[in-house]
Amino acid sequence: MTEKCYTIASSFNSKSQFMELSIPSKLPTVGNSIFTEMSQLATEYSAVNLGQGFPDFSMDAALIDLVSKAMRDDCNQYAPMSGLPLLREKLAEKVNQIYNANIHPDSDITITPGGTYAIYTALTTILRPGDEVIVFEPAYDSYIPTIEVNGAIPVLISLSYPNYFIPWEEVHQKITSKTSMIIINTPHNPTGAVLTETDIMQLRKLVEATNIVILSDEVYEHLIYDGLAHLSMLRYPDLLARSFVCFSFGKTYHCTGWKLGYCISSPTLMKAFRKLHQFNAFSCDTPKQVALANYLPNQSAYLNLGSILQQKRDYFRTLMQATPFQCIPSHGSYFECYSYAQFSTETDTELAIRLTKEYGITTIPLSAFYKNGIDNKVLRFCFAKKESTLALAKCFLF
Ligand code: PMP
Ligand code: GLN
Repeated sequence: MTEKCYTIASSFNSKSQFMELSIPSKLPTVGNSIFTEMSQLATEYSAVNLGQGFPDFSMDAALIDLVSKAMRDDCNQYAPMSGLPLLREKLAEKVNQIYNANIHPDSDITITPGGTYAIYTALTTILRPGDEVIVFEPAYDSYIPTIEVNGAIPVLISLSYPNYFIPWEEVHQKITSKTSMIIINTPHNPTGAVLTETDIMQLRKLVEATNIVILSDEVYEHLIYDGLAHLSMLRYPDLLARSFVCFSFGKTYHCTGWKLGYCISSPTLMKAFRKLHQFNAFSCDTPKQVALANYLPNQSAYLNLGSILQQKRDYFRTLMQATPFQCIPSHGSYFECYSYAQFSTETDTELAIRLTKEYGITTIPLSAFYKNGIDNKVLRFCFAKKESTLALAKCFLF
């Protein structure tokens, strides 16, 4: 349900008379997110939820123990605004090693309450009314509302179907003097597409000699398959100088409910980011930051992640081969997309609802990731699940 304005019956005076307030919505076309809608439907119909992106397997108990220990050790008061110094140090060590970067823990990293918050803060740090932002669709659901709430204008570019490549020529054509930011997401939600060196070269060529700032959403940095390398903006000093790079501990450590992440940027951009952050969240959960700082040196936890999730993707793909769905191969993220154009004329939303109600399996229709609801007859499946869950979904499906 969307609302153009909120009508509030407000207590007016001591005689309990009421006055109607009419407050225009800042996001008049926005209703509940598709993840909320489909998860509610999954619960209502006791369906296997392959919709919203969250693992159903346990996180490492050692990390949970470290949180309990931090709480017992009295680490329960405010952390510093930019994040626990030890956590920022460990993160700098990690990214400097794996991305051959030169990140400074004091000036370049801020711990945030999740990746979405980091994205919101980065966009809000830069955007002014009338600014244009290049957004590739299908797009993660928070980008466009965040642009719009800042009075800026999303300039939509569809990734080419079915490979979901960036059409660089169109990007070139759509850059204007008002282009303030470009949003990049690799590995990509919902398609699992991954940026290549050619993409990086194109991006570099387009932004050099401009004031364009890049928002790089890299929450799936370690969920990358088929021997591909994650091409983080952190690898390219010229791009990093104009980038906010956003990450999520939830994705890396199988704890999406923790809502903890971080943003890395250049000192100048990060200083501006922190001005907003200090008056919004101010700081993040202290015991979890202590625990993560102590857990971060355990490299195998993130270096093995790609191969563990790739096995799940491959298992799910094999199951799906026995169905009429056609795979659009994913190379990263929690997700793989499947086309059903060859066996149904239903809209993707109709099919997603019907699969939940009749087959007990919940997916996400890809049209939800397009502002104008483009429907290529594709559903997104989350394979970050126990094999037993994926197998169950297969039985339901056919
Ligand atoms: N970006 C993308 C592409 C995502 O899929 C998600 C996950 N939900 C996020 C950002 C946000 O991560 P978090 O849950 O840490 O806010
Ligand atoms: N990122 C998750 C997904 O794409 C959902 C997060 C949310 O529900 N906001 O499924």
